[in-house]
Amino acid sequence: MAAMAPTKDGEPPLHILFFPFLLPGHLIPMADMAVLFAARGVRCTVLTTPVQASTIRSVVDRANDSSSAAGTPMSISVVPFPDVGLPMAAQSGRDLATSRDYHDRFLQTVELLREPFCRFLSDHHADIDAVVSDSLFHWSAHAAAEHGLPRIAFLATSMFARACTDTVLRSNVFESCSDDHGAVVSLPGLPHRVEQRRSQMMDPAKRPHEWAMFQLIHAADRSSYGELFNSFRVLEPGYAEHYRATQLRRRAWLVGPVALASGSLEDVASRGAVAGALSPDAAVCLRWLDAKQASSVVYVSFGTMTNFSPEQMRELARGLDLSGKNFVWVIAKGSTAASSDPSTPDGFPTANRGYIVRGWAPQVLILNHPAVGGFVTHCGWNSTLEAVSAGVPMVTWPRYADQFYNEKLVVEVLGVGVGVGAEDYASCLETHRVIAGEAIAESIRRVMGEEGDGAAMRKEAKELGVMARGAVEKGGSSYDDVGQLMEELIARRSSVGCTADG
Ligand code: UDP
Repeated sequence: MAAMAPTKDGEPPLHILFFPFLLPGHLIPMADMAVLFAARGVRCTVLTTPVQASTIRSVVDRANDSSSAAGTPMSISVVPFPDVGLPMAAQSGRDLATSRDYHDRFLQTVELLREPFCRFLSDHHADIDAVVSDSLFHWSAHAAAEHGLPRIAFLATSMFARACTDTVLRSNVFESCSDDHGAVVSLPGLPHRVEQRRSQMMDPAKRPHEWAMFQLIHAADRSSYGELFNSFRVLEPGYAEHYRATQLRRRAWLVGPVALASGSLEDVASRGAVAGALSPDAAVCLRWLDAKQASSVVYVSFGTMTNFSPEQMRELARGLDLSGKNFVWVIAKGSTAASSDPSTPDGFPTANRGYIVRGWAPQVLILNHPAVGGFVTHCGWNSTLEAVSAGVPMVTWPRYADQFYNEKLVVEVLGVGVGVGAEDYASCLETHRVIAGEAIAESIRRVMGEEGDGAAMRKEAKELGVMARGAVEKGGSSYDDVGQLMEELIARRSSVGCTADG
């Protein structure tokens, strides 16, 4: 961790306030990003709620322990979890996939965090140079502007998905398209030819509230100072230029993969776990992997917001069985799967060939284990980027939000994945068409295959992994983007004629 060097003439270092949404998929990358900026000498404050603070405390403490600076480069400011009637156990956001009530209450926090955020800015704005706000807090654009602070948006997704969504929101792509389930929609003006099935997209006719929310988010982000991405340039060829110049004329910095900049893999493996507590299966799972041949195990995990029907669980178990491959399968606490027992459907042979992790898995450690050769993923952007960083090809099984666009990037643009055939855009609380075990097994065999497209994907994935590490090293594109943003903020400080201490 770098010393918090004064910027010039004894001025205090830059101070950035990070304000993540409370779900793990948003909080984890923003905490990693704060660690990354702290390592470059920026003072970083993360404003969040108690349970969320407990999931990132370990990375923040480690960042401060390794600091050679006098003073604390990173701190967490805690505000109470909004009173939406959620029990403490549900405040981590891990049970939202199984309860409509929890889900809806949790989403109310987006609006209810406005007041504590505004109060924090009123008290501390003179001491802050910029706010990195989750895009979901669209109202933070106005709040930051009121205090003359630049707001930098972060949506925890790929630039590719963001550009696709932007196109869909701005050009009426559905107008000339039929309502058929299989109708194909073309997205104009992007660096690649992008076509998507209508059934895989957020459709304004079916989801007017979600559509309106995204309109608000995109409007706030367009009016902001700029946008940060947990990504790196060669991963999304042409999109940085598209964002900055061609169509959108927006400032954007690609600073990822941020998890690679947070110290050792062990350091990041437990972030996201409540109070830092990994599943009791975690250590045994890693030892189990030690005994397996290189690239012989497929890792199966669907992030924190996916819930499969019992029927789909059976088909997934059957698919793993039919694939003939070793596997590690993560089953989140609270999911339907956790209350049934997927290890016991008829003929499901976990002995030797499979290991089930219940609870919070050390995903980054598992993906980087030499025994792991493929990843069955829902294409959440964090998981996707963690697979890319580890050089692991993917079986893609998107369900919702940005996941279908991320699948397109992985399968069609980068050539490091095979789709399982998911077709319906539907949240964790809605019904999905069941994917058959045979289709799952076939995709796993293709990705894990030692010949044909399996070998080509593995080679490509390994090369991307090397490029990911290069991007965050000194002189890499993401390293340079961090430096560029810091310089812009320092220059801005001089131009508005105020120093960080007011
Ligand atoms: N994760 C983990 N262990 C688990 C489940 C999830 O470390 O058992 C982490 C995973 O590594 C990733 C994040 O949680 O960093 C999930 O984010 P993603 O965008 O992939 O999916 P989401 O949960 O937001 O749908």
